[in-house]
Amino acid sequence: MNYDAENLTDFAQEVVDRGDLPLLGRDPHRTYHLGIMGGTFDPIHNGHLVAAEQAFDDLDLDLVVFMPAGRPAFKQDKQVSSGEDRYAMTLLATSDNPHFLASRFEIDRGGITYTADTLQLLRKLYPDNVKFYFITGADAVAEIMAWKNAEKVASLATLVAATRPGYDLEHARKTLKKSSVSFDVRYLTVPALAISSSYLRDRVSVGQSLRYLTPDTVTGYIHKHKLYGVHSSRYGSLREE
Ligand code: NAP
Repeated sequence: MNYDAENLTDFAQEVVDRGDLPLLGRDPHRTYHLGIMGGTFDPIHNGHLVAAEQAFDDLDLDLVVFMPAGRPAFKQDKQVSSGEDRYAMTLLATSDNPHFLASRFEIDRGGITYTADTLQLLRKLYPDNVKFYFITGADAVAEIMAWKNAEKVASLATLVAATRPGYDLEHARKTLKKSSVSFDVRYLTVPALAISSSYLRDRVSVGQSLRYLTPDTVTGYIHKHKLYGVHSSRYGSLREE
Protein backbone atom coordinates (compact mmCIF):
# COMPACT_ATOMS: atom_id res chain seq x y z
CA MET A 1 0.00 0.00 0.00
CA ASN A 2 1.52 3.33 -1.01
CA TYR A 3 0.34 6.83 -0.32
CA ASP A 4 1.44 9.98 -2.04
CA ALA A 5 1.95 13.38 -0.44
CA GLU A 6 -1.62 14.51 -1.29
CA ASN A 7 -3.39 12.05 0.95
CA LEU A 8 -0.88 11.71 3.75
CA THR A 9 -3.30 12.89 6.40
CA ASP A 10 -5.85 10.24 5.44
CA PHE A 11 -3.03 7.73 5.55
CA ALA A 12 -1.99 8.82 9.04
CA GLN A 13 -5.55 8.55 10.32
CA GLU A 14 -5.89 5.06 8.86
CA VAL A 15 -2.72 4.00 10.63
CA VAL A 16 -4.16 4.99 14.00
CA ASP A 17 -7.50 3.37 13.18
CA ARG A 18 -5.88 0.01 12.52
CA GLY A 19 -3.78 0.15 15.71
CA ASP A 20 -0.42 0.77 14.05
CA LEU A 21 0.12 3.81 16.28
CA PRO A 22 -1.04 4.17 19.89
CA LEU A 23 -3.97 6.23 21.03
CA LEU A 24 -2.47 8.81 23.38
CA GLY A 25 -3.42 12.18 24.78
CA ARG A 26 -6.98 11.61 25.89
CA ASP A 27 -6.58 13.23 29.31
CA PRO A 28 -6.11 16.98 28.66
CA HIS A 29 -4.74 17.51 32.19
CA ARG A 30 -1.79 15.22 31.59
CA THR A 31 1.31 15.43 29.43
CA TYR A 32 2.21 12.27 27.52
CA HIS A 33 5.72 11.41 26.32
CA LEU A 34 5.91 9.37 23.13
CA GLY A 35 9.23 7.84 22.11
CA ILE A 36 9.73 7.34 18.38
CA MET A 37 12.61 4.95 17.73
CA GLY A 38 13.84 5.76 14.23
CA GLY A 39 16.25 3.52 12.38
CA THR A 40 16.80 1.29 9.39
CA PHE A 41 16.80 -1.80 11.65
CA ASP A 42 18.57 -3.99 9.10
CA PRO A 43 18.39 -6.00 11.30
CA ILE A 44 17.11 -4.87 14.70
CA HIS A 45 19.35 -6.07 17.56
CA ASN A 46 19.62 -6.09 21.34
CA GLY A 47 21.46 -2.75 21.31
CA HIS A 48 18.38 -1.06 19.84
CA LEU A 49 16.11 -2.80 22.34
CA VAL A 50 18.24 -1.88 25.35
CA ALA A 51 18.54 1.73 24.10
CA ALA A 52 14.76 2.04 23.77
CA GLU A 53 14.20 0.54 27.21
CA GLN A 54 16.78 2.92 28.70
CA ALA A 55 15.10 5.89 27.00
CA PHE A 56 11.74 4.66 28.30
CA ASP A 57 13.07 4.64 31.88
CA ASP A 58 15.35 7.68 31.84
CA LEU A 59 12.94 10.00 30.03
CA ASP A 60 9.79 8.68 31.66
CA LEU A 61 8.20 7.81 28.31
CA ASP A 62 4.69 6.37 28.04
CA LEU A 63 5.53 4.15 25.09
CA VAL A 64 8.21 3.65 22.45
CA VAL A 65 7.12 3.20 18.84
CA PHE A 66 9.76 1.48 16.69
CA MET A 67 9.54 2.93 13.22
CA PRO A 68 11.64 1.20 10.56
CA ALA A 69 12.48 3.76 7.88
CA GLY A 70 10.76 3.15 4.54
CA ARG A 71 13.37 4.35 2.07
CA PRO A 72 16.10 5.80 4.32
CA ALA A 73 17.12 9.23 3.05
CA PHE A 74 20.87 8.66 3.30
CA LYS A 75 20.89 5.12 1.93
CA GLN A 76 19.63 5.60 -1.63
CA ASP A 77 22.85 4.14 -3.03
CA LYS A 78 23.05 1.26 -0.55
CA GLN A 79 21.39 -2.14 -0.55
CA VAL A 80 18.84 -2.30 2.24
CA SER A 81 16.51 -5.24 3.02
CA SER A 82 12.86 -4.72 2.11
CA GLY A 83 10.63 -2.67 4.39
CA GLU A 84 8.49 -5.78 4.94
CA ASP A 85 11.46 -7.82 6.18
CA ARG A 86 12.73 -5.02 8.44
CA TYR A 87 9.23 -4.42 9.82
CA ALA A 88 8.67 -8.16 10.43
CA MET A 89 11.94 -8.46 12.37
CA THR A 90 11.08 -5.32 14.37
CA LEU A 91 7.65 -6.73 15.18
CA LEU A 92 9.14 -10.05 16.31
CA ALA A 93 11.74 -8.31 18.47
CA THR A 94 9.36 -5.93 20.22
CA SER A 95 6.20 -7.99 20.65
CA ASP A 96 6.94 -9.25 24.17
CA ASN A 97 7.41 -5.77 25.63
CA PRO A 98 4.11 -4.11 26.62
CA HIS A 99 5.47 -0.57 26.19
CA PHE A 100 7.05 -1.17 22.77
CA LEU A 101 5.10 -1.04 19.52
CA ALA A 102 6.31 -1.73 15.96
CA SER A 103 4.79 0.57 13.38
CA ARG A 104 4.44 0.40 9.59
CA PHE A 105 3.97 4.17 9.54
CA GLU A 106 7.11 4.89 7.49
CA ILE A 107 7.35 1.73 5.43
CA ASP A 108 3.82 2.17 4.03
CA ARG A 109 4.56 5.73 2.93
CA GLY A 110 5.65 6.20 -0.64
CA GLY A 111 8.92 7.96 -1.53
CA ILE A 112 11.91 8.75 0.65
CA THR A 113 11.07 8.83 4.34
CA TYR A 114 12.10 12.12 5.83
CA THR A 115 11.89 12.42 9.61
CA ALA A 116 10.47 15.96 9.34
CA ASP A 117 7.48 14.60 7.35
CA THR A 118 6.95 11.80 9.86
CA LEU A 119 6.96 14.19 12.81
CA GLN A 120 4.71 16.65 11.05
CA LEU A 121 2.15 13.94 10.36
CA LEU A 122 2.33 12.70 13.91
CA ARG A 123 1.84 16.28 15.14
CA LYS A 124 -1.39 16.48 13.14
CA LEU A 125 -2.58 13.23 14.66
CA TYR A 126 -1.86 13.83 18.31
CA PRO A 127 -3.05 16.63 20.58
CA ASP A 128 -0.48 19.10 21.97
CA ASN A 129 -0.27 17.33 25.32
CA VAL A 130 1.63 14.51 23.57
CA LYS A 131 5.35 15.38 23.39
CA PHE A 132 7.63 13.61 20.92
CA TYR A 133 11.09 12.15 21.60
CA PHE A 134 12.85 11.05 18.43
CA ILE A 135 15.39 8.41 19.45
CA THR A 136 18.19 7.40 17.12
CA GLY A 137 21.94 6.83 16.90
CA ALA A 138 24.29 9.69 17.84
CA ASP A 139 26.05 9.30 14.45
CA ALA A 140 22.77 9.98 12.68
CA VAL A 141 22.04 12.97 14.95
CA ALA A 142 25.50 14.41 14.21
CA GLU A 143 24.46 14.69 10.55
CA ILE A 144 21.13 16.28 11.28
CA MET A 145 21.94 19.61 9.62
CA ALA A 146 21.99 17.70 6.32
CA TRP A 147 18.49 16.33 6.89
CA LYS A 148 15.56 17.79 5.02
CA ASN A 149 13.88 20.50 7.15
CA ALA A 150 16.15 20.00 10.15
CA GLU A 151 14.63 23.09 11.79
CA LYS A 152 11.20 21.45 11.60
CA VAL A 153 12.56 18.34 13.29
CA ALA A 154 13.97 20.60 16.03
CA SER A 155 10.65 22.33 16.56
CA LEU A 156 8.64 19.11 16.70
CA ALA A 157 10.68 16.76 18.88
CA THR A 158 13.29 16.36 21.54
CA LEU A 159 16.16 14.39 20.00
CA VAL A 160 17.55 11.44 21.89
CA ALA A 161 21.01 10.48 20.66
CA ALA A 162 21.97 6.99 21.72
CA THR A 163 25.53 5.79 21.68
CA ARG A 164 27.97 3.26 23.08
CA PRO A 165 30.33 4.05 26.00
CA GLY A 166 33.58 5.64 24.85
CA TYR A 167 32.03 7.17 21.74
CA ASP A 168 33.26 10.72 21.22
CA LEU A 169 30.16 12.87 21.50
CA GLU A 170 32.10 16.07 20.82
CA HIS A 171 31.48 15.84 17.06
CA ALA A 172 27.70 15.68 17.53
CA ARG A 173 27.75 18.40 20.20
CA LYS A 174 29.90 20.76 18.09
CA THR A 175 27.81 20.23 14.95
CA LEU A 176 24.60 21.01 16.76
CA LYS A 177 26.12 23.97 18.61
CA LYS A 178 27.43 25.51 15.38
CA SER A 179 24.05 25.35 13.67
CA SER A 180 21.60 28.22 13.70
CA VAL A 181 18.84 25.82 14.74
CA SER A 182 18.22 25.23 18.42
CA PHE A 183 17.91 21.51 19.14
CA ASP A 184 16.79 19.97 22.39
CA VAL A 185 19.08 16.93 22.58
CA ARG A 186 19.48 14.29 25.25
CA TYR A 187 22.42 11.90 25.09
CA LEU A 188 22.04 8.29 26.17
CA THR A 189 25.06 6.06 26.75
CA VAL A 190 24.03 2.47 26.18
CA PRO A 191 26.61 -0.30 26.76
CA ALA A 192 24.71 -2.73 24.51
CA LEU A 193 25.22 -0.38 21.53
CA ALA A 194 28.63 -1.95 21.03
CA ILE A 195 26.42 -4.22 18.88
CA SER A 196 25.58 -2.88 15.43
CA SER A 197 23.46 -4.07 12.51
CA SER A 198 26.50 -4.28 10.25
CA TYR A 199 28.23 -6.53 12.80
CA LEU A 200 25.23 -8.87 12.72
CA ARG A 201 25.09 -8.87 8.90
CA ASP A 202 28.80 -9.68 8.72
CA ARG A 203 28.43 -12.54 11.18
CA VAL A 204 25.52 -14.04 9.25
CA SER A 205 27.42 -13.85 5.97
CA VAL A 206 30.26 -15.96 7.37
CA GLY A 207 27.97 -18.44 9.12
CA GLN A 208 28.46 -17.19 12.70
CA SER A 209 25.82 -17.28 15.40
CA LEU A 210 23.60 -14.33 16.34
CA ARG A 211 22.63 -15.83 19.66
CA TYR A 212 22.46 -13.18 22.45
CA LEU A 213 22.92 -10.38 19.92
CA THR A 214 19.31 -10.25 18.77
CA PRO A 215 16.18 -12.14 19.85
CA ASP A 216 16.09 -15.73 18.56
CA THR A 217 12.85 -14.96 16.70
CA VAL A 218 14.80 -12.44 14.59
CA THR A 219 17.58 -14.96 13.96
CA GLY A 220 14.93 -17.46 12.85
CA TYR A 221 13.42 -14.93 10.47
CA ILE A 222 16.84 -14.10 8.97
CA HIS A 223 17.50 -17.77 8.27
CA LYS A 224 14.04 -18.62 6.95
CA HIS A 225 14.08 -15.63 4.61
CA LYS A 226 17.74 -16.06 3.70
CA LEU A 227 18.78 -12.52 4.49
CA TYR A 228 22.37 -11.21 4.56
CA GLY A 229 23.85 -14.07 2.56
CA VAL A 230 22.81 -16.87 4.91
CA HIS A 231 24.37 -20.03 3.57
CA SER A 232 23.14 -22.63 6.00
CA SER A 233 19.82 -23.27 7.67
CA ARG A 234 21.51 -23.63 11.05
CA TYR A 235 20.38 -21.31 13.78
CA GLY A 236 19.74 -23.76 16.58
CA SER A 237 22.28 -25.13 18.99
CA LEU A 238 23.45 -28.05 16.84
CA ARG A 239 26.13 -27.60 14.24
CA GLU A 240 25.70 -29.17 10.82
CA GLU A 241 28.40 -31.67 10.07
P1 NAP B 1 22.51 5.16 10.18
O1 NAP B 1 23.31 6.21 9.47
O2 NAP B 1 22.40 3.81 9.55
O3 NAP B 1 23.05 4.95 11.64
C1 NAP B 1 24.09 5.69 12.18
C2 NAP B 1 24.48 5.01 13.50
O4 NAP B 1 23.40 5.12 14.42
C3 NAP B 1 24.78 3.53 13.34
O5 NAP B 1 25.81 3.21 14.25
C4 NAP B 1 23.47 2.88 13.74
O6 NAP B 1 23.67 1.57 14.24
C5 NAP B 1 22.97 3.80 14.83
N1 NAP B 1 21.50 3.80 14.96
C6 NAP B 1 20.59 3.98 13.97
N2 NAP B 1 19.35 4.00 14.49
C7 NAP B 1 19.49 3.78 15.83
C8 NAP B 1 18.59 3.69 16.91
N3 NAP B 1 17.28 3.85 16.72
N4 NAP B 1 19.08 3.48 18.16
C9 NAP B 1 20.41 3.34 18.35
N5 NAP B 1 21.33 3.42 17.38
C10 NAP B 1 20.87 3.63 16.13
O7 NAP B 1 21.07 5.76 10.51
P2 NAP B 1 19.74 5.47 9.75
O8 NAP B 1 19.23 4.15 10.28
O9 NAP B 1 19.89 5.67 8.28
O10 NAP B 1 18.81 6.65 10.29
C11 NAP B 1 18.43 6.74 11.63
C12 NAP B 1 17.11 7.51 11.71
O11 NAP B 1 17.32 8.86 11.29
C13 NAP B 1 16.02 6.95 10.79
O12 NAP B 1 14.78 7.08 11.44
C14 NAP B 1 16.09 7.85 9.57
O13 NAP B 1 14.86 7.95 8.86
C15 NAP B 1 16.46 9.17 10.21
N6 NAP B 1 17.16 10.01 9.20
C16 NAP B 1 16.44 10.98 8.59
C17 NAP B 1 17.01 11.74 7.59
C18 NAP B 1 16.19 12.81 6.91
O14 NAP B 1 15.08 13.06 7.33
N7 NAP B 1 16.72 13.44 5.90
C19 NAP B 1 18.34 11.51 7.22
C20 NAP B 1 19.06 10.49 7.88
C21 NAP B 1 18.45 9.73 8.88
P3 NAP B 1 22.81 0.34 13.64
O15 NAP B 1 23.23 0.23 12.19
O16 NAP B 1 23.22 -0.80 14.48
O17 NAP B 1 21.38 0.73 13.76
